[in-house]
Amino acid sequence: MARELARRSLPSGRTARVVMSEAADGDMAVGGPENLLVSQRHALAPGSWTWLEQVHGTSVLEVLEAGDGAGTAADAAVTVAGDAPIAVQVADCVPIALLGSDGIAVVHAGWRGLRDGILEQAVHALSAITDGPFQAVVGPHIGACCYAFGDRDLDEMAERLGPTVRGRTRDSQPALDIAAGVEHVLDTLGTTMAVVDGTCTSCDERYWSHRGTGTTRRQAMVAWIQTGER
Ligand SMILES: [Zn+2]
Repeated sequence: MARELARRSLPSGRTARVVMSEAADGDMAVGGPENLLVSQRHALAPGSWTWLEQVHGTSVLEVLEAGDGAGTAADAAVTVAGDAPIAVQVADCVPIALLGSDGIAVVHAGWRGLRDGILEQAVHALSAITDGPFQAVVGPHIGACCYAFGDRDLDEMAERLGPTVRGRTRDSQPALDIAAGVEHVLDTLGTTMAVVDGTCTSCDERYWSHRGTGTTRRQAMVAWIQTGER
């Protein structure tokens, strides 16, 4: 079932929270039955969620109040608003939350978004609304064990994201270690890794895996700044 990956008291007296769903919490993919989706979301975080129409791009949405901009085509959201859950849906891509002094971000990072700079854009947008330093919370994603990658593509990624992205699958094929790429980029941006859940979504049956099974179902990472008791 859903787990809290991080809970941090902010200097303002508010609390930043980051929760990750599992398959058992239901399919969080957008486009499913709206009533079901809303009740599944409420079980994880109260209030209207801002979810994104993810396109593997580099656009970042600034959320001003709960539910603001829901359905916007973007791959990251930032907010300083209280009780305004921001979420990304994933099944192998890396879900990332960034916690600043009084603001938060969520990011959907696949290899294309990473290559094109979604993390840089998200950190930039968060910097515009709250002070650093930022800490990153990384949720379950596909491991190098299950992420065979062509040699040429891997060369390109290593050039962009550092040599640590070169991994090996369980049967020793060249593979992309996408979390290593996330860590490299965040390091260059002065962001530290506070929590890294290295669970492989393809190996672990608790999670949906697009690469593992071809599913269109998704788990969600949701982050919000809690102002009251719940
Ligand atoms: Zn694996």
